[in-house]
Amino acid sequence: MPPDREVVEVDALFVGAGPASLAGAIHLARLIRKHNETAEKKIDEPFIAVIEKGKEPGAHSLSGAVLDPAALSELIPDYKEKGCPVEAEVAGEDLYLLTAGGKIRVPFTPPPMRNHGCCVVSVGDLVKWLAGVAEEEGVEIFPTFPGSEILEEDGRVVGVRTADKGIDKEGNEKANYQPGADFLAPVTVLGEGTRGNLAKQLFESHADRFAGKNPQVYGLGIKELWKVPDGRLAPGRVIHTMGFPLKPDTYGGGWLYGMRNGYVSAGLVVGLDYHDPFLDPHACFQEWKTHPVIRGILEGGSLEGYGAKTMPLGGYYSIPRLSSDGVLLAGDTASLLNPMRLKGIHTAIRSGMLAAEAVLRSMITGDSSAGALSSYDEAVRKGPIGDELHRSRNFHQGFDNGLWMGLIHSAAQIATGGRGFRDNMGARPGHERMETIRSFYGGSQPGRPDRSFDGEYTFDKLTDLFKSGTEHLEDQVAHLKILDRDICSNRCAEEYGNPCERFCPANVYIWEKDADGGKGRVRIDFANCVHCKTCDIIDPYQVIRWTPPEGGGGPDYEKM
Ligand code: SF4
Repeated sequence: MPPDREVVEVDALFVGAGPASLAGAIHLARLIRKHNETAEKKIDEPFIAVIEKGKEPGAHSLSGAVLDPAALSELIPDYKEKGCPVEAEVAGEDLYLLTAGGKIRVPFTPPPMRNHGCCVVSVGDLVKWLAGVAEEEGVEIFPTFPGSEILEEDGRVVGVRTADKGIDKEGNEKANYQPGADFLAPVTVLGEGTRGNLAKQLFESHADRFAGKNPQVYGLGIKELWKVPDGRLAPGRVIHTMGFPLKPDTYGGGWLYGMRNGYVSAGLVVGLDYHDPFLDPHACFQEWKTHPVIRGILEGGSLEGYGAKTMPLGGYYSIPRLSSDGVLLAGDTASLLNPMRLKGIHTAIRSGMLAAEAVLRSMITGDSSAGALSSYDEAVRKGPIGDELHRSRNFHQGFDNGLWMGLIHSAAQIATGGRGFRDNMGARPGHERMETIRSFYGGSQPGRPDRSFDGEYTFDKLTDLFKSGTEHLEDQVAHLKILDRDICSNRCAEEYGNPCERFCPANVYIWEKDADGGKGRVRIDFANCVHCKTCDIIDPYQVIRWTPPEGGGGPDYEKM
């Protein structure tokens, strides 16, 4: 018998309490109030809901981050006076090309990449603050409610089912079993961040409707928060690096951002379209910290936080259709991150606001069909978001043949307003670009590299993980599914050497050898998962599925 589910009928549903959804919910609440001041037909006591998988807003939010405040200042013009947690305005920036032991300072930062007028923030703190503003506006936020299933009727999205609670690891109901609730809404806004599991369901079940011109490609950002001795990096000081330790065929780069009270945000982005099956992004990040430029700032300080998150790098040409019957896509879910600026918070906020305007129109007219909501697509593509992303439309693809060609393409794209030498340059999904051991190493599996970490300045994954606050109830069904374990033991072991052990930044996948010399199997320590989605993205056979764990599980990021 199907479980007796609670049904929550709301007027607008936002999924994921990140910048896109919270900005959308705040804007919608205010638009409705303004509408009611003059309209004959008022919208009475609207129920605007935001569901969030983390234990509180911000617990799963991670970014560098340097925020372009343009959209925030439209949403909340007096955001500074209202106590928005800005760490510092950007006060100078450097871009270095790192070699093994040296550095070349790029004499000027290209104009589209400059951060003048931007500010250093912790996106987690920003999200917490936005959640407070939303609640003051009457928005109801439901933390620990992960969306697990898109609800459709006749091809039209009618809401979201949240994950069940109280299921043990064998799949049996426990004493505290609670079936997930059905949140029903005329319009659902998916602002669930990068590689959202609900958006993925939509993209798979309606591939014809939602395909972008190019497939999405992703990067993985690995971050540590440090507290360093006085005078190492002034608040607002921004440093970006290219090169070491990434080889020219691997996309990525590092960052150091100065925050208040001696905190430094330090991180490395690695494109999840790398070729080497033995690359370990976390190990690369630790190696990056050993460079004198980075060591000179961090060494002697203390590790305060750790986390990892993927980001969509496909940009303009990977933007899917953004609306359909009863649904809108916003923020990273909609591929609205600018890969050239490596910024997506401002486009997330703006897209949330545009989504709110579309939702208001549908509330007034009672029409939430694809046709009515398509005005949102147009507003995104023809407004400031589309303008900005169009100018960086070939950026990431320009690095397909490595760093040096990428820099040449970037210069050409900047000079031609984004067109470059070829427009559109096309893209392949990252998991197709990972090469087999035979192809990359000429057949012989490389020896295990010496990855020793000193535990004071460089850390193994488990030590880092401890600083992420990650927790999951152990007695639940693993939220990471391997669809075909034979592939792991046979084809993947031989062809790629089980790269999940390396690409996961949280030590979730452990290869266990059989005592009798058999092939062995992969153990999944799902409780370590920081919800970055890397495995779902780059597994070369696409047999790993990330699904939402019981609500509240996952990282507990502070100041990230
Ligand atoms: Fe990220 Fe997957 Fe590892 Fe979880 S299991 S931390 S989603 S790579």
